[in-house]
Amino acid sequence: MKNPKPIARHFASDNNAGICPEAWAALSEANANHAVGYGGDRWTRRACDLIREVFEMDCDVYFVFNGSAANGLALASLCQSYHSVLCHRVAHVENDECGGPEFFTGGAKIRCLSGDNGKLTPKVIEEAIARRTDLHFPKTRAISLTQATELGTVYTPAELRAIGRVARRHDLKVHMDGARFANALASLDVAPKSITWQAGVDVLSFGATKNGVPVGEAVVFFDRTLSQEFEWRAKQAGQLASKMRFITAPWVGLLSDGAWLRHAAHANQMARRLANRLARIPGLRLLHPRQANAVFVQLPQPVIEALHKVGWHFYTLTGPCDARFMCAWDTTAEDVDAFATDLAALMARRDQLKAPRGQTRSRAAK
Ligand SMILES: *Cc1c(COP(=O)(O)O)cnc(C)c1O
Repeated sequence: MKNPKPIARHFASDNNAGICPEAWAALSEANANHAVGYGGDRWTRRACDLIREVFEMDCDVYFVFNGSAANGLALASLCQSYHSVLCHRVAHVENDECGGPEFFTGGAKIRCLSGDNGKLTPKVIEEAIARRTDLHFPKTRAISLTQATELGTVYTPAELRAIGRVARRHDLKVHMDGARFANALASLDVAPKSITWQAGVDVLSFGATKNGVPVGEAVVFFDRTLSQEFEWRAKQAGQLASKMRFITAPWVGLLSDGAWLRHAAHANQMARRLANRLARIPGLRLLHPRQANAVFVQLPQPVIEALHKVGWHFYTLTGPCDARFMCAWDTTAEDVDAFATDLAALMARRDQLKAPRGQTRSRAAK
């Protein structure tokens, strides 16, 4: 299979995409004149106001550089060092933040739970709470949910409300990792409040990087008693931007006139197109329901190798043969079709494809 020209857009991650036009335009506007530093500028005020409008609530909003900082510092606002946080075993807070939540909380324990398709349920949470309530184990203090999940699925408002009720019953706080919050929202087509504070979420890591801004995530406190001294916590962690407007202006561009939801809906739509194409390829199996902008599929190892050789970038994160294809705000239908066509052709020839060097066919096919 020859590739005529370099591949412009891949399926590796939505953070591989560039800056969306709305964010770019706002950045350029913010660049025109001097503005006060450290968030005392009009862009930052506007971004905070827009977020309060989105959630229809007078929440406290802070901006940090990335999602790991948002999660770690949000959890640190909920937990003392002797607390524990319940999350799914595939959660970013556990797997992809280099112990940031433990570090920023000063030692809180992250407890990983199981659940189908990357989601926690009231049952698994109740069981985890009940397992240890004694003095010799870190006191359960918070639940961290990812929306959309790391496996491309989405919690419904009813599922979140049920978890929120468990949290209230046991006096736990609820954190939401919303690195792909927009994709979840676009998928559900509900009011933002219905999957956050109305469902019992106390603090949200609100992501925009994967939705088209260059850098910067928001920490949104719906329970404002929890945000006490957050600005000191963020500053000490090196998370207070001096030229803050270059973080917040793109947010203004993205949130004004609904661009954020259009981009997320588009990414979801491209993932739906890809899932439909892949479902028609004989021998392929989707690993999780496609509900947001990711498609997970199990592939034979030689096909993975061959796709990489053609030039397609993507990750196998949950297992060596579990491929993740992530669509972004700028993924086109042509990208999806070109990729699906290559994949279908390789699947048809999979028995002729050589196993990677050093691996026997049977090992590679596991
Ligand atoms: C991308 C992502 C984050 C944020 O990651 P950073 O690299 O720290 O910005 C957080 N949670 C999830 C689920 C993510 O996919």
